[in-house]
Amino acid sequence: MTFLSATLDRVKPSPTIAVTTRAAELKAQGRDIIGLGAGEPDFDTPDNIKAAAVQAIHDGKTKYTAVDGIPELKQAICAKFKRDNNLDYSPAQVSVGTGGKQVLYNAFMATLNPGDEVIIPAPYWVSYPDMVLLGGGTPVFVEGALERGYKITADQLEAAITPQTKWFLFNSPSNPTGAGYSWDELAALTEVLLKHPHVWVMTDDMYEHLAYGTFTFCTPAEVEPRLYDRTLTVNGVSKAYAMTGWRIGYAAGPEALIKAMRKVQSQSTSNPCTISQWAAVEALNGTQAFLKPNNDMFVRRRDLVVDALNDCPGIQCPRPEGAFYVYPSIKDCIGRTSHGGALLKDDEAFATALLDETGVAVVFGAAFGLSPHFRVSYATSDTALIEACARIRTFCEGLR
Ligand code: PLP
Repeated sequence: MTFLSATLDRVKPSPTIAVTTRAAELKAQGRDIIGLGAGEPDFDTPDNIKAAAVQAIHDGKTKYTAVDGIPELKQAICAKFKRDNNLDYSPAQVSVGTGGKQVLYNAFMATLNPGDEVIIPAPYWVSYPDMVLLGGGTPVFVEGALERGYKITADQLEAAITPQTKWFLFNSPSNPTGAGYSWDELAALTEVLLKHPHVWVMTDDMYEHLAYGTFTFCTPAEVEPRLYDRTLTVNGVSKAYAMTGWRIGYAAGPEALIKAMRKVQSQSTSNPCTISQWAAVEALNGTQAFLKPNNDMFVRRRDLVVDALNDCPGIQCPRPEGAFYVYPSIKDCIGRTSHGGALLKDDEAFATALLDETGVAVVFGAAFGLSPHFRVSYATSDTALIEACARIRTFCEGLR
């Protein structure tokens, strides 16, 4: 009898660990490392949100709460869905968890049975396939290629649906590409889903507020109200409000599903941090004024990075609609040899050599299910971005 659960055999260790461990080792050796791997804003949580948390502590709001959220936060979430997405939800249709991650995990745990398939557009956020596997389901990947702006088409979605499909997992703007689906692009997908009533939609709207230029965010239940009864709309405060460490995410959907998710949470973590819940009430109900200047800064950084990377020989970098990532192709670098003598046989070899030879840490595309690419998070200072892009350029110019 083995001690560890067979469940763990289904999931792989995080493929990003090799690069991050190597980056940490090099830093410890005194090397000058620029990390472009972090999936979080580099600015601080706004003061009004911090103040709400401090007030909660002073007011003694430091005890257990209802398993899936305090009524005040559920109310704020309902108001948010009405205000931003024109979606009507009652508090009984809302679940609050320890980050968007727990909410997604609860939903899979509450619904997947062996043999159930979950359609995941690739490239995808690293945790999706493994969460599905942990839940006993089967991930089915549909490739969104660079030529189509990393988005999937209605025909691709149609072709991927089988009688076993339980969920279609949607993420726009996307981690890792920043790609955002327009209303019409999303409507083409929801049109397909209408034809298959057994398929539910899990939409991860984590980057909703990080939408740039003429791109306007939209979400499936808003685009196609007839999907409302089989859509779980997931969101959270981590990214837009710079609250990654506070660990509050939420979802709204059919009451029976929310109840099942509550059951999972009640036997694992119970309520998310009480103080963070009060901070999230302020994040959602308080001023949203900082979103615009933050987005202006992100747009400037996006353009800086996209222009600089497109100037590097062998790199092709689309300009994404949102989030704080770019996902350039390095097709023309593969098979070549770096200045330091490393054969770049795939994107992992590229990222490893880039780190070893220039000190720039990026995450290789295989981790997200589409190669050969790498992901850059531009949620860091202009100075670091300019220096990192200059080093990437020197690296590419040195390829033989
Ligand atoms: N969904 C996506 C697409 C993400 O990129 C992330 C975080 O990186 C999450 C969900 C998880 O968010 P949270 O930190 O709220 O758990």
